[in-house]
Amino acid sequence: MSATSLLEKLKIQARPTEDLELVKRAYDFAAQAHEGQKRKSGEPYIIHPLAVAEHLVELNLDTPTIAAALLHDVVEDTRYTLHDLRSEFGDEIAFLVEGVTKLDKIRYKGTERSAESLRKMFLAVAEDVRIVLLKLVDRLHNMKTLRHVAPEKQKRIALETLEIYAPLAYRLGIGELKGQLEDLAFPYVYPKEHEWLEKTVHDHFHNRRRYVEGLKPVVAEELVKEEIPFLDIHARAKHYYSLYKKILKYDMDISKVFDLVALRIILPNIEQCYAALGVIHKIWRPVPGLVKDYIALPKPNGYRSLHTTVFGPEGRTIEFQIRTKEMHEEAENGIAAHWAYSETKGTPAYTKHLTSFAPQKELLWIHQLREWQKDFENPDEFLESLKIDFFKNRIFVLSPKGDVFDLPEDATPIDFAYHVHSDIGNTTTGAKVNGKMVALDHTLKNGDVVEILTQKNKKPSSGWLSFIKSAQARKKVSAFMKKAREERLFEKPGGEIAELRLSAQDRLGLLRDVSSVFARQKVNMKNVASDTKNRFYPLFVIQASFKSRAELEKMMVKLKEVKGVEEVGYKLL
Ligand code: MN
Repeated sequence: MSATSLLEKLKIQARPTEDLELVKRAYDFAAQAHEGQKRKSGEPYIIHPLAVAEHLVELNLDTPTIAAALLHDVVEDTRYTLHDLRSEFGDEIAFLVEGVTKLDKIRYKGTERSAESLRKMFLAVAEDVRIVLLKLVDRLHNMKTLRHVAPEKQKRIALETLEIYAPLAYRLGIGELKGQLEDLAFPYVYPKEHEWLEKTVHDHFHNRRRYVEGLKPVVAEELVKEEIPFLDIHARAKHYYSLYKKILKYDMDISKVFDLVALRIILPNIEQCYAALGVIHKIWRPVPGLVKDYIALPKPNGYRSLHTTVFGPEGRTIEFQIRTKEMHEEAENGIAAHWAYSETKGTPAYTKHLTSFAPQKELLWIHQLREWQKDFENPDEFLESLKIDFFKNRIFVLSPKGDVFDLPEDATPIDFAYHVHSDIGNTTTGAKVNGKMVALDHTLKNGDVVEILTQKNKKPSSGWLSFIKSAQARKKVSAFMKKAREERLFEKPGGEIAELRLSAQDRLGLLRDVSSVFARQKVNMKNVASDTKNRFYPLFVIQASFKSRAELEKMMVKLKEVKGVEEVGYKLL
């Protein structure tokens, strides 16, 4: 077991010598640290970090990420600490490894309602897209070797892959990785369905493949005739799991799935993509409603291509996917394609900013999303993808039951309590974080498990306002305080004088009707005045004393019911 092929690949990418040395040093450190440890398959442990690092090299990630990949399980599984890694490899690599170690703590237990929250939490905890990519590739290798793991664990890991990791890969636009993760998880999560699909599809699939391969020369010849230069034409089979989901949509009728095997055309530029689409439609008639221009209107995850389904020879339908080389790389590798180490672009985008990589990575991430936003037609879809960017100043904490709540940075147990429910916030007496009692102004961190202790007649304290972070909690505490203050005013003998302000469309008998409401409620009107100057509706100002807030509130409701009354407000005097 050695790092030879890894270093070869780095050399081909023309990375500087010091990068190669760094990777070699990380490999030696990891190999030594994991010495004697074995994977469940019986192989030496180092093959796992090595495989992860190799995949990331193929995705063209920067050198610190490759080094971090080699070291990613060192802190969790060996005697070395994060501190050791920091002094040996510096802040950036230690930061990346720490991120991976933190993500290991997030577990999906299979309660559907929390999957989306967990995906968000995953991204928020990761802090850096490179950590997410490393973790996705880590999971891919673990899925490839899942057969060696104890059966009772297999299903949980596969389900987590399907519900958390694959959707994240999709959202980051890494279609290829998403497809592989799903296909690896599919047989463990839905064994019967997988078996059924295997049996049903097999013949059909090979049949289709032969048919589609047969069309390749026809298309090539036609493009040459029209003088449209193309870079590649290849058949692409649909991933099994996405095929299964599509068949479900079509009542299990596989003949309705047109893109089982599609033909993909790669061209040098966008104009040629549209020209190629024209050529295809000239040869074969398009199926109405299936021409999709994802170049003008990309998918929320950034996917761009032209799709069309046509009635091919023998009246059989076939899907074409037409795109530029750049779009193709993006579709396969998504955000990784944008982050890729590239010699042609001069200094690699993120090594250039080594000293300030934290703000830089955020900028790139947001920039990326802004780029996507430009072409979005559907604002909802875009918002969905943008949510990740709002994580910057948010933290994610869990209730003891595993529900995820997002709160502003530096939020306290009181903020958490009000986010769970106002009644819980109002009656909070204490809090436990990760099982330990803490002060109510304790600063919560990502991934904390927070438990709130309550007591029935407890009331909020105005002191809370000095440390509460979320607007929602602040509003609720303030409202409670105001109400309590007012409540006290009514307690004096004779009650509290309130000034009610009614705006109403004036009419004959209006004031009489208003007076009778007071009479029925047995409240004496002390003073009535009206103001008609510069007003659309006249304003009536009535003073009266009330024995309780409840009495005042009841009066407001009754007054609103009087014909002509538009608005009722009050002021305590
Ligand atoms: Mn690992």
